[in-house]
Amino acid sequence: MSENIERVKCLIIGSGPAGYTAAIYAARANMSPVLYQGTQPGGQLTTTNEVENYPGYPDGITGPEMMMEFQKQAERFNTDVRDGWVTKVDFSGPVHKVWVNETKEIHCDTVIISTGATAKYLGLPSEQKYLNLGGGVSACAVCDGFFYKNQEVVLVGAGDSAAEEAHYLSKLCKKVTMLVRRDAFRASKIMEARVKNTENIEILFNTETEEVIGDGQVVTGVRAKNNITGAIFDIPATGFFVAIGHKPNTDIFKEYLDLDETGYVIKTPGTSKTNVEGVFVSGDAADHVYRQAITAAGTGCMAALDAERYLASKEVPEENELA
Ligand code: NDP
Repeated sequence: MSENIERVKCLIIGSGPAGYTAAIYAARANMSPVLYQGTQPGGQLTTTNEVENYPGYPDGITGPEMMMEFQKQAERFNTDVRDGWVTKVDFSGPVHKVWVNETKEIHCDTVIISTGATAKYLGLPSEQKYLNLGGGVSACAVCDGFFYKNQEVVLVGAGDSAAEEAHYLSKLCKKVTMLVRRDAFRASKIMEARVKNTENIEILFNTETEEVIGDGQVVTGVRAKNNITGAIFDIPATGFFVAIGHKPNTDIFKEYLDLDETGYVIKTPGTSKTNVEGVFVSGDAADHVYRQAITAAGTGCMAALDAERYLASKEVPEENELA
């Protein structure tokens, strides 16, 4: 093996709750994990303000603070946390090859994928402005709905996620206005019926978002457009929820791993195992249903335990046998 190639027992890709939890368990099992943080250290939670639903934080904690705590805990057990972006993998052979920042090559006995997913947004400047300000734009009703108790909110989307989030918000908020860009839902019939039968959800079909309106700090409404009549109108709202889908960050694995049509990694049910031996997945990269910090952390634990058992069950060849 070339001198430039590093050999790692357990490589963790990604630094959200899944990656750090995998690191804590792997480090405590003497697997000397190396974790690459990616381009958004801390993952999706770093774009969240207050996290109030993660057990163990009775007073809540901000997303960035929580991820710093996760990192500290992983480092306490000597996880090697590194800055870097995994750009390429080769899972075709007995040793899993990973390249960081295009150049650095690492040979891994086990790999834990915790690359997460990215929520899609409309991309309007006003939406991005209030998202970055933490002023009332969110892509997660379960995370942020509570902050809009007894208030009026607008939600965009018409898939199962949108239907589920609208229904969740309807139990907290005074009114939920759903903006559906076509004249039909994409969601399953049962989810559609649930939304339609909820009194405080108003559905506006053929309606698109023109602009998120605010006072410079927080959202105060949404300017919408009927794409049939061309009519433009304002809807008062303190929250703007976007539920138009997620994109799992799995593009670099598609040549080797079984992915579903959206790109989520398909794993053996009840485990973190992928179709490649020694490669495990945790967190939102394989979860389009729950997508919570606590579920990501739980699957991170599973991935580390599965990796440990895999290593224990397998004689890993010595370095000179791999060259
Ligand atoms: P989907 O891709 O199914 O739906 C996205 C929705 O957003 C569509 O209605 C789409 O409109 C709309 N949309 C996309 N872009 C825009 C835009 N720019 N402006 C306005 N609207 C837009 O994503 P989901 O996250 O809802 O679901 C992903 C997968 O997860 C699906 O397979 C779903 O069934 C599954 N899921 C299952 C759940 C469950 O079983 N409990 C819960 C949540 C998700 P259009 O229809 O016009 O394209």
